[in-house]
Amino acid sequence: MSQTTSPTARLMDGSALARRMVEDAAARTADLTARTGQAPCLATVLVGDDPASVTYVRMKRNRCAQAGIRSRHVALPAAISTAGLIGALRELSEDPGVHGILLQHPVGPHIDERAAFEAIAPEKDVDGVTAHSFAAMGLGMAGFASCTPGGILRLLDHYGVELAGKHAVVVGRSPILGRPAGMLLLGRDATVTYCHSRTAELTAHTREADVLIAAVGRARFLHGEQIKPGAVVIDAGYHPGNVGDVDFASAAGVASLITPVPGGVGPMTIATLLTQTVDAAARQLGAAG
Ligand code: NAP
Repeated sequence: MSQTTSPTARLMDGSALARRMVEDAAARTADLTARTGQAPCLATVLVGDDPASVTYVRMKRNRCAQAGIRSRHVALPAAISTAGLIGALRELSEDPGVHGILLQHPVGPHIDERAAFEAIAPEKDVDGVTAHSFAAMGLGMAGFASCTPGGILRLLDHYGVELAGKHAVVVGRSPILGRPAGMLLLGRDATVTYCHSRTAELTAHTREADVLIAAVGRARFLHGEQIKPGAVVIDAGYHPGNVGDVDFASAAGVASLITPVPGGVGPMTIATLLTQTVDAAARQLGAAG
């Protein structure tokens, strides 16, 4: 008796591609250091001691060290004011020994995060969080991409996913993830739909997606029955217990390509940060190729 099994999506291995990007960043760092006598330097700024943020910053610094990129850590008290944080970011922006600045999101609710991001000099905005970078992304101009969306685009390209003329649905519209992801997809000629917490009939939209980006911040939020058969599913979510915003088991039975959690979007975000830090250093040291 023949048995019917549901098709299983191919995994998009973000870890493997990110490893290659880190190797490439390491080679470029070695070359830049040899030519200029200065290694690229990323300043990481952490407000408070939220355990997840502490872990993310440690992972980013470890990855920098692996590539020969120096990092300078600035730990600020949770109670720091917006003005205090802006002061610290301006100092780093003016320091010629720092080539890139990462302000770990989120900062405390009493801080005006947007104002803090805007204190980062555009040429050092390697995390792509300033209005300057956002506008450059939207207008298709040279600039730093927001790291998670930038990493997602690289992953889609690596797996040869055609974007022009395809319908991309982004669930989430946050300034650091959903919104710029949609802009980058639009820049690649996809037809883009944004969904958010006020979207009516969410499933009617997600089921139309050739490329579905889950950036909701809710564990296992999107299920297989909400996905178009054969769609490419990118799960940008991360929750404790290695769970994403997509219910992997049901989605993998419907999608053609899917990112795992962990090992999908997460490592690509960090690799993009490293790549952009080396780009920033090369420009600031007058050694851009
Ligand atoms: P966020 O700022 O909380 O934004 C969540 C978005 O989802 C908002 O736009 C919100 O809509 C929308 N949303 C919430 N509930 C919804 C619902 N029921 N239906 C439709 N849309 C809904 O989160 P974020 O910072 O973008 O992060 C999203 C996820 O990505 C999280 O799991 C986070 O951990 C993960 N993340 C991963 C990385 C990485 O490197 N892998 C980096 C950043 C974030 P409204 O705008 O209407 O509120």
